[in-house]
Amino acid sequence: NNFNDYPISDEILKAIEKLNFKNPTKVQKAVIPLALEKKDLLCKAQTGSGKTAAYGIPICELLDWDENKPQVLVLTPTRELAIQVREDIFNIGRFKRVKVSALYGKSPIRRQEKELKQKTHVVVGTPGRVMDHIVRGTFITDEIKYLVIDEADEMLNMGFIDQVEEIINEMPENRVTMLFSATLDSEIQRLSKKYMNDPQVIEI
Ligand code: AMP
Repeated sequence: NNFNDYPISDEILKAIEKLNFKNPTKVQKAVIPLALEKKDLLCKAQTGSGKTAAYGIPICELLDWDENKPQVLVLTPTRELAIQVREDIFNIGRFKRVKVSALYGKSPIRRQEKELKQKTHVVVGTPGRVMDHIVRGTFITDEIKYLVIDEADEMLNMGFIDQVEEIINEMPENRVTMLFSATLDSEIQRLSKKYMNDPQVIEI
């Protein structure tokens, strides 16, 4: 199958074409249809599998351009990954004019605050700085409808578990949660039981 088989708009298809993606990868084939149906997903996937577009494509498709407050939060373990994900989502959403902000440490908080005052559909960030903005009231989470936890195992390895749980607790109950991890060990299972709603499990 190819990307045209999915119920996605011409704006997103055009962006996929511009990215030169011919066919969906395995993880994309598994994730895209379920994510478009707004299912909670627990997905075992490595970097390099195309996991970013696997969630980026449905998220860009589903988000409401007219809403000014953030609708999507993607948590990443590192600033490098946050920057990469911002770029990937920008590229997927470019013809829909999707606005993405990245929040990470060792970078002026003021500039990020200014960005958050503008229309932002998607926030990508590392746990510490995301929590800072929630506490300051500069990142408004009321309208979040999709939460993606990317490289969850790395997040735990780096000791971010408490912050990640604090952030999840700030998200509206009525949201979709997608968790991506290279391993699905007991700690990841615990997180998914505690914070996800009957997730579909995908192992690539
Ligand atoms: P990721 O696993 O998200 O880090 O993606 C790994 C690389 O694969 C990135 O450079 C993507 O741009 C690329 N990629 C993602 N999906 C596809 C696709 N369907 N066809 C070709 N390349 C892809």
